Amino acid sequence: MRTMNRGQAKTLIFTKQPFIEDEGHRKIEKWQFSAMSDTEIVNMAETQIYKCNYYDPNQKPIEGGLLDPRLGPANKSSGECATCGAVMKDCPGHFGFLVLALPVLNVGYLSTIVDILKCICKLCSGILLEEGMRNDFLKKMRSPKMEPLRKTELMKKIVKKCNSLATNYRPVKCSKCGFINGSVKKAVGVLGIIHDRSKLNGVMDDFRTTLSHTKESKASFNVATHMLNPARIYSLFKRMVDEDCELLNLSNRPANLIMKNIAVPPIAIRPSVIVDRSLSNENDITERLKRIIQSNAILRRDLLEAKSAPKCLGHSRRCILFEDVLGFFMGCLVGMEQASWDILQVEVAQYINSDIRGVPFSMQTAKPLSGFVQRLKGKGGRFRGNLSGKRVEYTGRTVISPDPNLKITEVGIPIKMAQILTYPERVSHHNIEKLRQCVSNGPDKYPGARMLRNPDGTEWSLKVNRKNAADGLKYGDIVERHLEDGDIVLFNRQPSLHRMSIMCHRAKVMPWRTLRFNESVCNPYNADFDGDEMNMHVPQTEEARTEAVMLMGVQNNLCTPKNGEVLVASTQDFLTSSFLITRKDTFYDRASFSLMCSYMGDGTDPVDLPTPAVIKPIELWTGKQLFSVLVRPNSNVRVYLNFTVNEKSYSKTEDGGPEAMCPNDGFVYFRNSELIAGQLGKGTLDRFMVLVPGHMKYQPGKVAYLWQNRNLPYEHGHSSVVGSYQGHLQKKMWAAVTKGSAECIYLEDAHRSVVGSSQGHFQKFCICITLGNGNKDGLYSVLLRDYKAHAAASCMNRLAKLSARWIGNHGFSIGISDVQPSDNLYNEKEKIIKEGYNKCAGMIQLYNEGQLPLEPGCDAAQSLESGITKILNNIRDQTGKLCMQTLHWRNSPLIMSQCGSKGSPINISQMIACVGQQSVGGRRAPNGFIDRSLPHFPRKAKTPAVDELWDRVKVLGSFMGIYFG
Ligand SMILES: [Mg+2]
Ligand SMILES: [Zn+2]
Ligand SMILES: [Zn+2]
Repeated sequence: MRTMNRGQAKTLIFTKQPFIEDEGHRKIEKWQFSAMSDTEIVNMAETQIYKCNYYDPNQKPIEGGLLDPRLGPANKSSGECATCGAVMKDCPGHFGFLVLALPVLNVGYLSTIVDILKCICKLCSGILLEEGMRNDFLKKMRSPKMEPLRKTELMKKIVKKCNSLATNYRPVKCSKCGFINGSVKKAVGVLGIIHDRSKLNGVMDDFRTTLSHTKESKASFNVATHMLNPARIYSLFKRMVDEDCELLNLSNRPANLIMKNIAVPPIAIRPSVIVDRSLSNENDITERLKRIIQSNAILRRDLLEAKSAPKCLGHSRRCILFEDVLGFFMGCLVGMEQASWDILQVEVAQYINSDIRGVPFSMQTAKPLSGFVQRLKGKGGRFRGNLSGKRVEYTGRTVISPDPNLKITEVGIPIKMAQILTYPERVSHHNIEKLRQCVSNGPDKYPGARMLRNPDGTEWSLKVNRKNAADGLKYGDIVERHLEDGDIVLFNRQPSLHRMSIMCHRAKVMPWRTLRFNESVCNPYNADFDGDEMNMHVPQTEEARTEAVMLMGVQNNLCTPKNGEVLVASTQDFLTSSFLITRKDTFYDRASFSLMCSYMGDGTDPVDLPTPAVIKPIELWTGKQLFSVLVRPNSNVRVYLNFTVNEKSYSKTEDGGPEAMCPNDGFVYFRNSELIAGQLGKGTLDRFMVLVPGHMKYQPGKVAYLWQNRNLPYEHGHSSVVGSYQGHLQKKMWAAVTKGSAECIYLEDAHRSVVGSSQGHFQKFCICITLGNGNKDGLYSVLLRDYKAHAAASCMNRLAKLSARWIGNHGFSIGISDVQPSDNLYNEKEKIIKEGYNKCAGMIQLYNEGQLPLEPGCDAAQSLESGITKILNNIRDQTGKLCMQTLHWRNSPLIMSQCGSKGSPINISQMIACVGQQSVGGRRAPNGFIDRSLPHFPRKAKTPAVDELWDRVKVLGSFMGIYFG
C-alpha cells in the first residue's frame, strides 16, 4: 500500500488518469493482497474523524465529522476539494481514519483468525507442533515448486493437525512455555472466539478449588472457558514470529486481521442526498460509521470510569497469567466496558457485513443499513449488477406475438419503439430528401429523427428549430433517424443457450405494442407466445450491420451447427394445413386455386398457373399442384427440387407395387419442383424405437440396425450409435453387425429407424419428415442444400402465409364430439377391459392361493404387481389401437397426430377410450391412504379398479365415489 507523507500531499497532483511511467513498460513480478495495518490506515488518511455530527448549525459539513470537506467534494456544487484543490470530477477522493478505543475483530477474517488461534499457544504465540513436525511442514511450505493452491491445502492440513489434539480432549502442552491449551472455536450467539479448556481432565481442578472460595464463583461461571478478546488476540498475533507466519501461509502479519483503526472512505462512494435545504439523507455506510463513532465514544467513557480495565487487556505476560487464573473474572472486571466493547464489535462487524449472525436482538434495526458486503454481493451487487452486465442504449424489450405474414427474416417493431431507437444515417444525394423529411418531422412524428450531427461534431436536438435544420441539411451530415423498414436489428431471447438465440432480423415498423415475428423462427429462440418477452438491439454502424446480417442473419442460420438439422422450419398449424391441402381428394376450381396462389405472396409476385389436373367437365387443380406452385411460383424461380421422403403414414403396397402408390399416400415425391405424390406432414413419435444396450444379443429374425457414430471415434463397450432414415445406411449397419464391430440395436420392425445415440440407455427418438425440422431429407434441407438459404427461406415465407390464411378460411377446431367414442368403440372397449379384469382376477386368485408362478428375482407380491401391470398396459395398447381404427378421417386430433403438428395416438386414445394404468415411478400408484391408493377403495384391494384404470366414463363416477360414496 502506498504510504504518503502528509507534507508531500500538497505537491502531488491527484488525477483519475492512470499513472504512466516514462521508461517504457515494466513487468509485474507479483501481486499481493493484504489487509492494511493500523499505521497504514493512518498514513493513508488525510484526517482523523471523531465527530458523529455531520453539519454545523449553518449546514456546513464540520471538520472531523463524517462529511469532513478534506475527504473530497461531496457533490458537483460543493466546489474545490479541501485537500487536493480539484473539483468533484477530478478529485480521486481521500480517506480519513477513525481510532477505536479498543481493538475489534474483522468479521471478514473471523474464520482465518480462529484457524490461526487453533495453531498457536494461547500464552506465548508459539506453534503447537513438535519441533520436528514443524520443520517438516515449514520445508514443504517453502518449497518453490509448491503452487499457491497446494499451499492453502497444506495450511488447512496444519490447522487440522493442531486442532485434532485439542478436540480429542487431550491437554495440549505448549512445548515452549508449558501452557495448557484447549480448543478454540467461534462463540455461539455472540461475535467472539471461545478458548475452551473445560474438557481437559484434571488440569483445571486447582483453579476450580481456588475459585470455589471466592464469592463470585457461586454462580455458573465456567472457570476454564473464556472469550478470547480482540486485544488479547492482537497481542498474541503481534508476538508471533515470522517463521510461524510463513508456516501458516500468511503473506502478511496476522495482527492486521484485528482492527484498531478504521479507514473512513471518501464521501464520493457514500454520497448524501440533500432532500430539503436543511435536510439530508445520508448513505448507509455513513450511517454505519456514525453508529461506530457513537458506540466508540460510549466505550471510551466507560473505560475512563473503570480505571482498572486497561491492565487486563493482555499486554503483559503477567497480566495474561492473571487472566488465566481468574479467567472468568474478565467478565466481572470489565463488566460495563465489556458490554460496550461487544456493541462496538457488532457495529464494526455490521459496517462490513450487515447480515452477520450473532447480533443481539436489541441491536437489530427495523430498516437494515447495508454494509460493504451487501454492496458487492448478489444480483444487484456491484459485480453482477453493474459489471458483468449493464444496461445499454439502442435496446428494446417487450412481449412477443406471432405474425405469419411477416417473412422469417423480419421482425415487427412497434412504432413507439421505432421512435426511440435510432440509427445514424449519413446524408448523401441518395437519401437527402428522405432525411430532410425525417428532420422536419422531428422526434415525435414517425418517420422522424432525434438528432442532427455535423461533420465537425456539433450536435442539435431536433426538438426545436427543425425548419432551419431541414433547410440547412447538407451532404456529410449525420441524422439520427427513427428506425425504418429494412433496418438491421439483433433479436434475442433469454436464456441465450446457443448462437441461434440471438439472430439478425430486418425491422418492419408496425402499429401496436408487441414485437412480432414468423412462428417458423420460434424454435431457435425456444419462444412461445404465452407472455414471453424478447430483446432487440440496433447496431449503429454500417460495419456492424454488415457483420450482423452476414453472420447472424436468420437466413444464414437456418440449421443448427450442432448436427446440421434444419431448425427454422414450419411448425404446428403450418403442418396441419399443408397436410390437409395435399390430401388426395382436394380439388380447387380456377377461382379458389388462383386465390390461394395469391395467398402465398403479397400480391405483387407473378404466379404461373399450372395446367389443371382435371379439364372436363370443369377445370380443377389439386392441392398438390398448389404445393408445386409454392415451391416454384413462376418460371423465373430456378428451383428444380427433386427428392423423396417416406412420411409416417407410409406403408408398402400389398402387391409390391411402386412406392408412390402407397395406400396412405405417405410417399412424398417431388420431381422438378412438382409434388407428384404424397401427403405432406411430419412424422413423429410412432416411430420411436428402443435401443438395447450392447450386452444384449442380436436376435435373428428381428431387424437390427447399427451404425457407429460418424463424429465420435468408436469405442468398444460404449455404444454410441447413430442411425439414419430407412434405406440409406442399412447396408452399412448390416456390415457393422456382421463384422461385430458395432453393438446391437434391436428394432421391433423393419420400418422403424434410428436417429440419435445411446449410452446404453433406452431412448426414444423421433424422425421428422418432409416439412418439419430435424430431418436432413426434408423439403427445406434439400432446398437449403441445393438452392441455398434464400430459396429455403422464401419457400418458408410462402408456406407460412398460405397456410395461415388457408387454415383461417378452412377452419380447424376441436370439440367434445371429436373425443366422443362411438357405440361400437365403447362396446369393444368394455369387452377388452372386462377381459383384462378377468385375467387380473385370475392372477389375484392364484396369488391368494399361493399358486402364482414367480417371476425371476421377484417374490409373490412383486410377481403379482408386474403381472397386473403388464395386463393393464396391454389393455391400453389394445383400446388405443382400436380407437385409432374407428376414428373418422376428419377427426381433428387424429389429423394433428398424423401430420405431426401436435399430439400422439396415445393422447388421442387416452382422451377417447381409457386413461389406462397410471404408473408412478414405474410402479402402480402407491398406497397413499392406509392400505389403499384412494379412500373409496376397500383396504388391501389389489383389483385393477384400485389402480385407476379409469375408463373415461368412470372418471366422473369415481370422483363421485370419493365425495358422496
Ligand atoms: Mg413462454
Ligand atoms: Zn481531493
Ligand atoms: Zn506457549
